Amino acid sequence: MKKQVFSLLLLCALVLTGCGGQIEKTERSDRLQIVTTVFPAYDFARAAAGEWADVKLLLPPGTESHTYEPTPSDILAVQECDLFLYLGGESDAWVETILSAVEMRGTAMRMVDCVDLLEEESVAGMQEEHEDHGAGEVAELDEHVWTSPQNAAAITRAVGEQLSALDGAHAGDYTAAAEAYAAKIHELDGEFAAFFDARTDRTMVFGDRFPLRYFAEEYDLDYYAAFPGCSTQTEPSAATVAFLTDKVRQEKIPTVWYIEFSNHLVADSIAEAAGAKTAMFHSCHNVSKVELDGGATYVTLMQGNLEALKKYL
Ligand SMILES: [Zn+2]
Repeated sequence: MKKQVFSLLLLCALVLTGCGGQIEKTERSDRLQIVTTVFPAYDFARAAAGEWADVKLLLPPGTESHTYEPTPSDILAVQECDLFLYLGGESDAWVETILSAVEMRGTAMRMVDCVDLLEEESVAGMQEEHEDHGAGEVAELDEHVWTSPQNAAAITRAVGEQLSALDGAHAGDYTAAAEAYAAKIHELDGEFAAFFDARTDRTMVFGDRFPLRYFAEEYDLDYYAAFPGCSTQTEPSAATVAFLTDKVRQEKIPTVWYIEFSNHLVADSIAEAAGAKTAMFHSCHNVSKVELDGGATYVTLMQGNLEALKKYL
């Protein structure tokens, strides 16, 4: 709550100063300007945009999206762009703060509106969220939709169609570029499906948050995790650690997984107690500067995950 108040103050300050002052105003160009929040949005938009539009990623590499605070220049970028592509959900609630306060000249598009949503799930052993859970609370929808390659392909195509609608001169180019990337993602999907189909045991244990509900659903995986997808908790209870440790021991699970940017302390301690290894699964939520500069894409990161699965699952 405190953060939202802060964001609102920031917005008020912006409005009062007329958005001018020290903020550098970007030159309008003829090219379509796309602004994205998280890495998957950036990656899909970049693929569909091809060489005909400019794509900007708001979240700096390595930033934790769930606790991000938009800067004045972010707010201006959203206001001025032609297409604003964001996730929609708990992890970018800060976006809603911007959108409720500024008048966009372009179009806003949410990734969660491109696919069917699943509810965030609490599986056995998982640490419950204590904060807001009152009686009768509606289960939260899980917004980590891109972790299913089929969803990723669908979102890419939807972005291609949106760009075609906004920039008719290149309509065919955007849909063709989106289709080419979607085809690559489908190929990857086929490789994951073949890998999992060949296995009888498909249980993954995460000593971490679990933003991979859609991935697990697509390949029919069993999973256990310390926390749900967007949890801000980092300290699981003794009962959660004991449950996961027993699971790994009893089912002779070779690897305890953790996600990118995690300090993997929880995964380490479970693995050590149960005599297992640890390995990283990249949820693609955000990338490091090294990954971004090195040309990482959703497809290359997910290929890395497939290699890790082949080695450690
Ligand atoms: Zn998240």
